[in-house]
Amino acid sequence: MDNKTVSPEDRAHGLMERKPPAKESPKDGVLLGEGYLTVPVRLFAEEKPQQEEGSAMNQKPKTAEILCVGTELLMGNTVNTNAAFLARGLAEAGLNLYHQTVVGDNPERLREAVELALSRADVLITTGGLGPTYDDLTKETVARTLGRELVPHEESQRWVEEYFRRRGRIPCPNNQKQCMMPEGATVFPNHNGTAPGCLIYGAGKWEGKQAVLLPGPPNECEPMFWEQVLPLLRGGSRLVSRCLHFYGIGESDLAQKLDRLMRESRNPTVAPYCKPGEVMLRLTARVGEGESADALLDPVVEEIRREAGQYLYGVNVGNLQTALVHALLAKGLHIATAESCTGGLVAQRITSVPGASGAFEWGAVTYSCETKRKVLGVTQKTLDKFGAVSVQTAMAMARGARRKSGADVAISVTGNAGPEPSEGKPVGLVFIGVDSDAMTSVREVRIPPTENRGREFIRELAASHALHEALEAVKRTVK
Ligand code: ATP
Ligand code: MG
Repeated sequence: MDNKTVSPEDRAHGLMERKPPAKESPKDGVLLGEGYLTVPVRLFAEEKPQQEEGSAMNQKPKTAEILCVGTELLMGNTVNTNAAFLARGLAEAGLNLYHQTVVGDNPERLREAVELALSRADVLITTGGLGPTYDDLTKETVARTLGRELVPHEESQRWVEEYFRRRGRIPCPNNQKQCMMPEGATVFPNHNGTAPGCLIYGAGKWEGKQAVLLPGPPNECEPMFWEQVLPLLRGGSRLVSRCLHFYGIGESDLAQKLDRLMRESRNPTVAPYCKPGEVMLRLTARVGEGESADALLDPVVEEIRREAGQYLYGVNVGNLQTALVHALLAKGLHIATAESCTGGLVAQRITSVPGASGAFEWGAVTYSCETKRKVLGVTQKTLDKFGAVSVQTAMAMARGARRKSGADVAISVTGNAGPEPSEGKPVGLVFIGVDSDAMTSVREVRIPPTENRGREFIRELAASHALHEALEAVKRTVK
């Protein structure tokens, strides 16, 4: 869509711009004015038609629906990032979100989508189509659907004029369209562009329903939502999540252990997510004003610990490598890696964590037997007698890495990632060695290849096992 009146430079400039301090409104006594653009300040306010207690936003809307407008979204030319951040924000505000829709710039289909959304949700949030050109029709369509006329909005007019004046430009007649607002709407000034957003209150058939209209460009839409819309939507309850990370147990086994809890728990709800080798349980509590999230979450976490604590490697830790780095940093320990079949994946994952420099000492990819000998001191006898993929080689690699690096903990990985068996060792056989003050151990892991799980899968999973072994060793190490 080539309908912009505001250049990207304007938008970038607008983002950094400073504004004069807030001032008192002579009209209604509300604190109006401008502040730094990152600070949530209302530029102007308008009286709502239904201001009495218990109406409009005071009603604590329960269900929201997102409708993103734009043919470019429908065609896949633009990634719908607005929907993603809006979904997160709505959860934060404690609203339930059951549907997201994308519709092109077509008034009839837009009207259909608006009617469908409002038939099943209390609040509709739209993005896009608020610009000045003929194909920006969201405001006109939603207002008409909700039974609201568009009327001139003086503050918007003043603000748009000011926006252009500061840039030494003159608004074109098209910009007048942006200064027409649905009657009775709450208007959200746009600090980063010209199209104001608004909250429309439904009339007639749609009495009690609300529609929040936001501009499409993310740098306009996001700040408007967080700074001006979210505080209105926050209806006294919020969602608080806690993520429990498990390793070494499959999703179905974990679900079986926690069957009753997962079926019966309502607040918090308990939902599993899995990725190769790992399961995560997300506990989500709906917390009312003045209520403690911990009071709802702690007893459930304790119950889960009792049932499956031996598999739980962390709470809200993100992933294995983050848990490992944080555990190392907390104890002031350093780690070293010696990898064969994972080719550096373990080191790569550790060093991807911010702050890893305080914990990662040394890493070697010793793919050939010669390098295992030269760099790690694995003996030719060990390699000849047991092979490169063996308990003995894994242990010698870990010990060698620790000796060579001086690290507190060393981890080694040697295995056959396929596609063919080698040295008589099957594809997917992996040995993970750990050497630390607390323990020297080797774990054998078998990751049978399948049609969909080939070499890359084996390498990734082997790296995950290694990170988990390292984490266990760190937990047992005292410095
Ligand atoms: P404008 O004043 O720029 O016309 P608008 O409110 O009319 O703003 P659109 O014309 O629908 O918004 O979209 C403008 C640009 O914003 C799009 O070209 C796209 O780059 C971006 N955009 C729109 N919707 C989204 C979305 N849902 N997610 C990410 N980017 C979006
Ligand atoms: Mg537009």
